[in-house]
Amino acid sequence: MSETRNVIIIGSGPAGYTAALYTARANLKPLLIAGSADKKTARIKGGQLMATSDIENFPGAIGTSVDLDTFAFLEGDEQKAALQDVKGLSGPHLMTRMEMQARHFGTEMLEEFVTEVDICSKPGELYTVTTETGKTFQARALIIASGAAAKTMGIEAEDKFFGQGGGVSTCATCDGHSYRGKTVAVVGGGDSAMEEASYLANLGIDVHLIHRRDEFRASRIMLDRVKKNPKIHIHEFRQIVDLLGKPHPLAETSKFFADKEVLRAAVMEDPRDGSREELAVDGVFVAIGHTPNTGVFANQLKMDESKYLERDRHMRAIPSINACNHKMHGMDYVPGIFVAGDVSDHMYRQAITAAGMGCMAAIEAERYIAEKLAEWEGVEGDVDTSLESIGVSHWSNNMDIAGEKPVVGKIEEAASV
Ligand code: NAP
Repeated sequence: MSETRNVIIIGSGPAGYTAALYTARANLKPLLIAGSADKKTARIKGGQLMATSDIENFPGAIGTSVDLDTFAFLEGDEQKAALQDVKGLSGPHLMTRMEMQARHFGTEMLEEFVTEVDICSKPGELYTVTTETGKTFQARALIIASGAAAKTMGIEAEDKFFGQGGGVSTCATCDGHSYRGKTVAVVGGGDSAMEEASYLANLGIDVHLIHRRDEFRASRIMLDRVKKNPKIHIHEFRQIVDLLGKPHPLAETSKFFADKEVLRAAVMEDPRDGSREELAVDGVFVAIGHTPNTGVFANQLKMDESKYLERDRHMRAIPSINACNHKMHGMDYVPGIFVAGDVSDHMYRQAITAAGMGCMAAIEAERYIAEKLAEWEGVEGDVDTSLESIGVSHWSNNMDIAGEKPVVGKIEEAASV
């Protein structure tokens, strides 16, 4: 028998935790299925911010490069203490705070990956979610906030050197410390590549930034920071096409490492003329963008050409043309399935936009459930399911600002009489 939940949230990035916070505060007792750890793509609990060193662009988080003199205007110990608190907020630190806040208000968490979602058996009533260990849950509403994962270069040698100090990584903050005093390459021309290169250079590592053309997607401020850093050498019009190894340092003393190799060089190709050269490096950090985690929704929910989920302005998922053997054909949206964060956003891809979408999806899910419960329990006369009414329920778990119970509480009470 699978458990039935009001709301299941898939994903534990800013969108998932914010949706959890809002639905938990609305007494919906959400279950958040958080993922566990897939080292290669950095699909881990907490999402992409787990691989971010300094948060500089989330309101309330300033980053480590804070010039305390700028804040000389602050008066009193309390304000100064507040400054110390925001200085140097890392991605993992921010995600831990979000998790604690979601749990504090009653979110239940499960650290597993979702492997299957059945939207066809009881659409508009219950959706079935199965996890990697075979646990199944039914949800009245589903919020998909499964995010996006790091892309890899797709060359054969990449797998051989991936992870565990072998030489290839998609996460400088996770693996950079193992390369202190060594030389690495960072691949990419966007903000992620700039961030990874700066982080590694600040650890004292020699960094070669390798980009396939001479124009950069990175923001001016981050590119300028990289250009000014003497530890970073930029190679334009270069693409890594192969990776070369040498015997593992423990190969002679340990049977386990006898046939293992570590990286010694990257083979770079000039895409303009195909010429090649070797670059001696101990590590390669791949920072070339992301792929949305939407595999389990293939042929069920509508996606764009890059496999990002589409949604309407109420954050509702849209059925794919052949969903449920074409039975959803003609439906504008799937009732009770909501979408938030990077899984549906290739344009902004910011923690703050993801969090905002998580909030919107939660409010929409709450409204949907309130309407559904009223319909199922026949208490529609007693409840106000307007967005305004639901909005006030976020201010208190017990009473709204008019001194009344929030809408879901009212429905639950009416249903239990
Ligand atoms: P991105 O902006 O899409 O950049 C990806 C880069 O990788 C591009 O330069 C692309 O080259 C290159 N690339 C793609 N596939 C490649 C391949 N197979 N081989 C070699 N190079 C390849 O991705 P991103 O840097 O991850 O940034 C995503 C979003 O997150 C952006 O909006 C960014 O501003 C934001 N972000 C912000 C921060 C921050 O503010 N701290 C940090 C990280 C990311 P082409 O340019 O030639 O296509």
